[in-house]
Amino acid sequence: MLVLPPDGHVHTEWSWDAVSGSMQRSCARAAELGLPSIAFTEHADFTRWVIGPERKALMRPVNAGQVGPDGVWNPPVFDIAAYLACVARCREEFPGLRILTGMELGEPHWHEAQVKALPGIRDFDRLLGSVHSLDLGGPRIVDHLFGTLALGALMRAYLGEALRLVESPAPFAVLAHVDYPVRYWPAEAGPFDPAAFEDEYRAVLSALARSGRVLEVNTSVPLPAPIVRWWYEAGGGALAFGSDAHKPASVARDFANAAAMAEAAGFRPGRYPHDFWRRSAVR
Ligand SMILES: [Zn+2]
Ligand SMILES: [Zn+2]
Repeated sequence: MLVLPPDGHVHTEWSWDAVSGSMQRSCARAAELGLPSIAFTEHADFTRWVIGPERKALMRPVNAGQVGPDGVWNPPVFDIAAYLACVARCREEFPGLRILTGMELGEPHWHEAQVKALPGIRDFDRLLGSVHSLDLGGPRIVDHLFGTLALGALMRAYLGEALRLVESPAPFAVLAHVDYPVRYWPAEAGPFDPAAFEDEYRAVLSALARSGRVLEVNTSVPLPAPIVRWWYEAGGGALAFGSDAHKPASVARDFANAAAMAEAAGFRPGRYPHDFWRRSAVR
């Protein structure tokens, strides 16, 4: 039987936007799928966004209440102690599943001091670095920028910010969803073509490889295969897989396809089932 890669990017009830999240049921789902390992990478956000009603609907009422009358959202504090207690309970209940602790740091290069001050950050197994926002006259979440910027300009601004993140000393090991804006790509614009942004992608991937960090294949939307081939060509050493599940049913979504794509691009499972995938000498 095919062993799926470990899921290195999952949200549960400890993330502010995971209204249907459940760590316990995500573990049950991972065990059912025969996953070797799962990382619970909850949001640690510090960027204050101007936010619209559609995003507000995704939040728990307690968090939606943190949007002020000026439409600016104050990110809720990640309750690390309660989260760690929940991880401990799940490790006891699912001894056959390797459960990693984690955080998804939103724009950590903008919030150096706050990130550093996160309690016990050095003890977390998996730290993801993410760009969700662009600062264009105030931080806005990327999906709110569609329609206000031309698509090409938006994509280049996103990859420019991703490059600044990767070139920063922010303490993350894995660059999450380098194709994040593609989730919101308007149907009328036709399919997203990464070749139109090849230079910008290659710049991010080269800097990522130089930094010794890892690229994530996020399966929220399928990551275009050329990007993983460019990662190999940039000298990228390892690959992580992440469903970015915000509910148990989405754990390891589309991982069989993602694994086949990664293998074709020159990456292979690591020595242990819970490892990152590694570049192979041949492709
Ligand atoms: Zn994210
Ligand atoms: Zn995420």
